[in-house]
Amino acid sequence: MANKWDERKKAKEDEYFVKKERELLANMKAKQESEAREAAKTASYMKCPKCGADLTERNFEDVKVDACPDCHGIWIDQGEIGLLRQIHESRGPFSRIMNDILEIFHHPKTGDATTAPR
Ligand SMILES: [Zn+2]
Repeated sequence: MANKWDERKKAKEDEYFVKKERELLANMKAKQESEAREAAKTASYMKCPKCGADLTERNFEDVKVDACPDCHGIWIDQGEIGLLRQIHESRGPFSRIMNDILEIFHHPKTGDATTAPR
């Protein structure tokens, strides 16, 4: 009878350690994934998503816009779009904010006003 109890106790212990080991592995996996995400964020911070060059900040009426000096892409985040909208609305019905933005990013060589920062 004592033997059955010992077997049962041992099985419970094994179950406990298997559970603890699973928890430990899950925590390690979550930590590794978190570190990998952070490393990817750090590596891609202020890099052009199209060509990988370092982005530079350009100012349009105190709104910072990220521009790529190599492929001439322009990157605007949601907050910046909101600020541009506020400027546009504050200018009233004759606002030509899009023309002003295109002028700011007008490329002197190609004349391409839609993709090229000065
Ligand atoms: Zn680029």
